Amino acid sequence: MKVPFNDLKAQYHTIKPEIDAAMAEVLESTAFIGGPALTRFEENFAKFCGADHCVGLASGTAALHIAFAALDIGPGDEIITSPWTFIATAEAISQTGANVKFVDCRLEDGCLDPAQLEAAITPRTKAIVPVHIYGQPADMDPILEIAGRHGIPVVEDAAQAHGAEYKGRRVGSMGRVACFSFYPGKNLGAYGDAGGIVTSDPDLAHRIALLRDHGRTTKYEHQVEGFAYRLDGLQAAILDAKLKHLDAWTEGRRRFAARYDELLADLPDVQPLRPYGNVRHVYHLYVVRVPEREALLPLLSERGIGVGVHYPISLHLQPAYARLGLGEGAFPNSERLGREVMSLPLYAEMDERAPEYVASALKELVGAGA
Ligand SMILES: *Cc1c(COP(=O)(O)O)cnc(C)c1O
Repeated sequence: MKVPFNDLKAQYHTIKPEIDAAMAEVLESTAFIGGPALTRFEENFAKFCGADHCVGLASGTAALHIAFAALDIGPGDEIITSPWTFIATAEAISQTGANVKFVDCRLEDGCLDPAQLEAAITPRTKAIVPVHIYGQPADMDPILEIAGRHGIPVVEDAAQAHGAEYKGRRVGSMGRVACFSFYPGKNLGAYGDAGGIVTSDPDLAHRIALLRDHGRTTKYEHQVEGFAYRLDGLQAAILDAKLKHLDAWTEGRRRFAARYDELLADLPDVQPLRPYGNVRHVYHLYVVRVPEREALLPLLSERGIGVGVHYPISLHLQPAYARLGLGEGAFPNSERLGREVMSLPLYAEMDERAPEYVASALKELVGAGA
């Protein structure tokens, strides 16, 4: 048996007529930038998140950058986030000229540790960016409470968590703004680069919409300098067609994840990461901690099992952040996750027998001197 890590083609084949029709409509109308598909998707995605506004953007990285720019963050300011994330979170901070300030994650869920947050706040702190890593919401109540007390806006990095919920509240409805990625492999993925921002603050939504398109008010009148960060019409049409299926796909992921949970329960050396408290995890990834990961990876690959490592190196230890002067030992939880995490195959169209096959391989290999 072969179990790929993901299979975007299998998903396309389940919805091909809808996608092909949505794309043909954009091609026939030549609404390549802006247009009805973009407006429709923005309305539907805002509703999906329980927020008032969505602004479609060129990528998740662009969404983070433009969120910080719209909050007037720049050189001399600091933004707090976790080093346990994809580099885009930190890159977007640096793109504004602000400094990245890392606060370690919790070992159990890989999300920003609220207990370590307050000590990192300084008078220069201009935003706090919890990352809903792997599809689990960060522990938002204490984060929002601390941020609120200091008058600092919270920007959710929701790139991996479309539809996730924290104590009944949807990701995207809790922070001042939330940034989404629609990169092809994300839970809601375009067929190219795409992203978006969700907020219930009308002034901020307006400002972001202005900034994404060269700060223009008419074709050649520019109120401010902005960016070329638009979401194109074809990607918006594809996303709007796919959004109708997202709840069903998420249920598929959650069902496979529950099966993995059951099958791995008697394997103490394989520890699934666990969200904190009352949340709806949307399983962008099913991540476990294992000892001896590096020895295990080629053995799983030999058995036709596609696994990923998200991520092998915490951001603070990457050469790109050497300038921060943070060595080994600065963030022990992120460092340990870097050594131990492994993402198992998981997607809605996966073979029903896949969890059993993967779990039995793990049972044979882990603790057997692998
Ligand atoms: C994917 C991702 C991003 C960046 O999104 P792009 O669309 O690839 O630019 C940002 N943050 C996190 C946590 C991500 O997983």
